[in-house]
Amino acid sequence: MLSPITKKYTDDSSMKQFKFTFYCDCCGKPIFTKVYDFNSAFAQKTFLSNDEKEARAIIYANEHREAYERANNEVRLNLNRCEICGDMICEDCSVYSDKLGGGVCCKKCGEANNEAKVSDYVYLQHERR
Ligand SMILES: [Zn+2]
Ligand SMILES: [Zn+2]
Repeated sequence: MLSPITKKYTDDSSMKQFKFTFYCDCCGKPIFTKVYDFNSAFAQKTFLSNDEKEARAIIYANEHREAYERANNEVRLNLNRCEICGDMICEDCSVYSDKLGGGVCCKKCGEANNEAKVSDYVYLQHERR
């Protein structure tokens, strides 16, 4: 399973649907993602043979993984990545910095202030090239 896009997330999936919530790395605000139904024919059945149960578990695991990846991609589009510490942050926590060439950093990095750090960062970027 790929690592979650934010440091904290919760998996609220049930046998009927897949549901993930992610949290802004900076303020902890929850970011809800689209809920997907578990569409397998087995989802509706009450009584299952052992073979069916096994099949359902495999299908469920696959769909669960796909829903999780979709949710991560969805959250990636809704959040910004701090160019200094790498945290995934919501719009409220995003500081747009000219020092980063119009890039984005989180409030913590912005407040910690950081003229110095920002210019170090830019310098490091240049060195790496
Ligand atoms: Zn936030
Ligand atoms: Zn940051």
